Amino acid sequence: MFSKILIANRGEIAVRVIKTCRRLGIATVVVYSDADAGSLAVEMADESVHIGPSPANQSYLVADKIIDACRQTGAQAVHPGFGFLSENAGFAQRCADEGIVFIGPNPGAISAMGDKIESKKFAQAAGVSCVPGHIGEIDDTAHAIRISEQIGYPVMIKASAGGGGKGIRVAWTQQDVEEGFPAVRAEAKASFGDDRIFIEKFIVSPRHIEIQVLGDKHGNVVHLFERECSIQRRNQKVIEEAPSPLLDEATRNAMGAQAVALAKAVNYDSAGTVEFVAGQDKSFFFLEMNTRLQVEHPVTELITGLDLVEQMIRSAWGEKLAFEQKDLKINGWAIESRIYAEDPYRKFLPSIGRLVRYAPPEEGQREGYKVRNDAGVREGDEISMFYDPMISKLCTWAPTRIAAVDGMGRALEDFHIEGLGQNIPFLNAVMDQERFRSGQLSTNYIKDEFPDGFAGTEPTPAQIDILTAVGAAMQRVYAARARTNVAGLNGTVRDEWVVAVGHAKRRVKLSGDEDLTVDLLDEGRALILSDIDWRPGKPVFRGVLGGAAFTVQVAPAAEGFTIRHRAAKARVLVLTPRSAELHDMLPEKQAADTSKLVLSPMPGLVVSMDVAAGQQVREGEVVCVLEAMKMQNIIRAERDGVVKAVNAKGGDPVAADEVLVEFA
Ligand code: ADP
Ligand code: ADP
Ligand code: MG
Repeated sequence: MFSKILIANRGEIAVRVIKTCRRLGIATVVVYSDADAGSLAVEMADESVHIGPSPANQSYLVADKIIDACRQTGAQAVHPGFGFLSENAGFAQRCADEGIVFIGPNPGAISAMGDKIESKKFAQAAGVSCVPGHIGEIDDTAHAIRISEQIGYPVMIKASAGGGGKGIRVAWTQQDVEEGFPAVRAEAKASFGDDRIFIEKFIVSPRHIEIQVLGDKHGNVVHLFERECSIQRRNQKVIEEAPSPLLDEATRNAMGAQAVALAKAVNYDSAGTVEFVAGQDKSFFFLEMNTRLQVEHPVTELITGLDLVEQMIRSAWGEKLAFEQKDLKINGWAIESRIYAEDPYRKFLPSIGRLVRYAPPEEGQREGYKVRNDAGVREGDEISMFYDPMISKLCTWAPTRIAAVDGMGRALEDFHIEGLGQNIPFLNAVMDQERFRSGQLSTNYIKDEFPDGFAGTEPTPAQIDILTAVGAAMQRVYAARARTNVAGLNGTVRDEWVVAVGHAKRRVKLSGDEDLTVDLLDEGRALILSDIDWRPGKPVFRGVLGGAAFTVQVAPAAEGFTIRHRAAKARVLVLTPRSAELHDMLPEKQAADTSKLVLSPMPGLVVSMDVAAGQQVREGEVVCVLEAMKMQNIIRAERDGVVKAVNAKGGDPVAADEVLVEFA
């Protein structure tokens, strides 16, 4: 076996590979850029090599630097992780030429599958069912329109070299093609340096189902069943699971057989994934093959008991697969939630910054489910604008799907992050939706269920009870403290209060010692809160209410607390009966008038400021362009007006909510 492996990646996946190497007794080397100098991966690896500035094209993407680092450290093999050089056939070939083993498929397989047009040709020849379309390059807009009419609208315009949700556009009409074709072509050129475009049928409201395959250098290929990754935004995955709630045994076997046939056709000899779109009627069509480890591989590991990184290392070393298809079985159900540094309340825009607090749920077996959290960060680390905005991948496993979903809901409750926007409340909202729970998925799920974006959910009656009890419990602690602060003053703490959750007020009477009984005086019932795990200053409050364990995130707010349970967040005030009366007479606070301001919707860099003071601007006109994490965001005027002041220029870093432009 190898004695030393270099990992040409960063973050979560570098840590993931190190863990397997440690278990196998293999020494590890990681490379790192300026931004990653103090990273967890660098801390965990046996050795580390600095390879340059933060931008990936000056560090992680420079093949020469990776090869040099292998030479310098004597690493015999390179694991590329995903992204970066993982699907670069030239790099794999270069490793081979230098006598370094590339832990991935052979270069021939990468180039055959790395390109969407070429891979479709292979797939067709191997008898794989493909999305109806034009398997070839499109020359110009006129050609694009002709092809689109032949296929029939809607169609999807795609960059052959595309990936990661970039270089993809749907066209419903000829006009969409006229606009979309040049746009995709420009994006493809800018992002991938390759402007070849093809067009295929757009399958409306499909599901994304993919088959994990695994091959060795002796001609053996098996599949490790499917993953469903239909919960996406901007064609990028957010929640994945294995197996798929859609598939039956016959469809699973048919997809598996096609995936294996395609892998065999290109002598596939490592871990890889064959992606399909599937109709709700279980018809399925090949999309592309990813010739690398996938982000969402942990769910497959959880249902098969295999370590995919170990399997890749063994195949690369030349070992034969130790099992055949008939030895493999699906055990239970696994779900992955990608925890992203993005603001779900602002259209999922990136939200970079420091992880002021980072407290993931504990990994391992819990009551009825298992938790796994793959991360490459620690508290205090920064999510920078240079790389992927993923913070961690939270997985749960259970014998059944619904138990895995419930486990995920609880694990997300227990995940505490402060310092930047993150999508945990959004993920929690999905786990609570009946449609998700019943497995009726589609790639339109987020658009269908959150048509106006995400704004949190209204607390349910059960959640109002939790928020009431938690608010009362915290108030009781603070009130008792206030008493004992004054020497010699031993008066009792008041026990009658009015708790307001949002606008709804309830009169309560508190009693009990360690546990708290909250008598709801107007309803004639009581809430019993036990197993309280909280003290002043802690942002996480755990307890058991009416027999059910819960975790909420708490923060002090004017006069009371802000408490979040899952996707429901509310201001909770605990008032004396007298102040509750006065409170009813207070006028509602008005939100500040920001209609004349253009605020930055996300932290990032100003790419261009397109208006100047004194300029007349029409509704819809571009005011400026912002960029963070490779995503550009065009800010347009929301109404006609004259610019009074411009507060930022191209090149300036800006914070969220910073005033960019003021209108007169
Ligand atoms: P996958 O391609 O694994 O199914 P995605 O399509 O969401 O999942 O991944 C988007 C792309 O982003 C990946 O293809 C990969 O190229 C890139 N990527 C994801 N995470 C990282 C990372 N930590 N570093 C570099 N690139 C990454
Ligand atoms: P990437 O390289 O980013 O993985 P893919 O071509 O695999 O790009 O597509 C990503 C996502 O876009 C898919 O998961 C699916 O949701 C959607 N998609 C791609 N092609 C089609 C299609 N022909 N019809 C409908 N949806 C599609
Ligand atoms: Mg894909």
